[in-house]
Amino acid sequence: MDCRTCTSEPVISRRYSGEHLCRRHFVSAVEKTVRRELRKQVAALETNGAPLRRVAVALSGGKDSTVALHLVQVWAGARRLELVALAVDEGIAGYRPPALECARRCCDALGVELRVSGYRDLVGMGLDELLQMQPPAGSPCSPCGILRRRALNLAARDAGVDALVLGHNLDDCAQTVLMNHARGDVARLQRMAPHLHRRPGMVPRLLPLRRIPEQEVYLLALLQGWEFHDGDCPHAAKAQRNLFRELLLQLEQAQPGTRHGLLRGMDRLRETLASPQPLANCPTCGEPAGGEGECQFCRQFGAFAV
Ligand code: SF4
Ligand SMILES: [Zn+2]
Ligand SMILES: [Zn+2]
Repeated sequence: MDCRTCTSEPVISRRYSGEHLCRRHFVSAVEKTVRRELRKQVAALETNGAPLRRVAVALSGGKDSTVALHLVQVWAGARRLELVALAVDEGIAGYRPPALECARRCCDALGVELRVSGYRDLVGMGLDELLQMQPPAGSPCSPCGILRRRALNLAARDAGVDALVLGHNLDDCAQTVLMNHARGDVARLQRMAPHLHRRPGMVPRLLPLRRIPEQEVYLLALLQGWEFHDGDCPHAAKAQRNLFRELLLQLEQAQPGTRHGLLRGMDRLRETLASPQPLANCPTCGEPAGGEGECQFCRQFGAFAV
């Protein structure tokens, strides 16, 4: 079986599109999809505000954000945008330190400034300690997610960027869409990244990899020789989204294209919904809150807030 475009041997067969792609044409297909996504997402943001001048990439050192940084650096260079990388140290022993080392080496090699902030700056301790002080009723990923969103938003504002790039791939995004549908949470579907509108206090998120399956992000990093940290968080097995990941893999297996379909459905749904209301500010910390009253950060970590 030849590549879709040339006679070279394929490195991947995409069941969702029926294409076989050699190394060169796989790399260029991914780059093209990413450029198209960025163009669409940035155009929406720029019609709702000033042109982008400076962007940040949230960099964990894992494959997704590492690939996002490499691709966004080329894109930002062509548009003469300033670029900075933001890493968050959750305080997870044995997992985050080697990933941060990877992130540092990646930024050094690319000549990109890396800024690191941590949960310690928010609540005076890392996640490991926090989980001992306040064991969560459910998955540790829920408090961790609240802290990460807060840390990244503050770091992005401090860095003076107009948008924050996240490395979420197609699988991540489709899982989130499915989870929000399962909860009937249309408001959250509407608020999901990529953000097409700017809201005071909230740095809008861009998702250049949202149409690239996880397996392809991994393959691209390997083919390009981009170093990344391949370890799993020790708490990952308790994540609520694991069930959705499993279900989605089964659905994709039985019906290739399901993940793309979920994203398409979300995009169409969002087009029919009114623009999201401006976020109310939390009466306690003054940061944007998802709903009425105190934000999730204050409700869960108010006692520890630094
Ligand atoms: S797997 Fe869960 S606990 Fe671990 S870093 Fe991710 S969100 Fe945090
Ligand atoms: Zn080819
Ligand atoms: Zn608050």
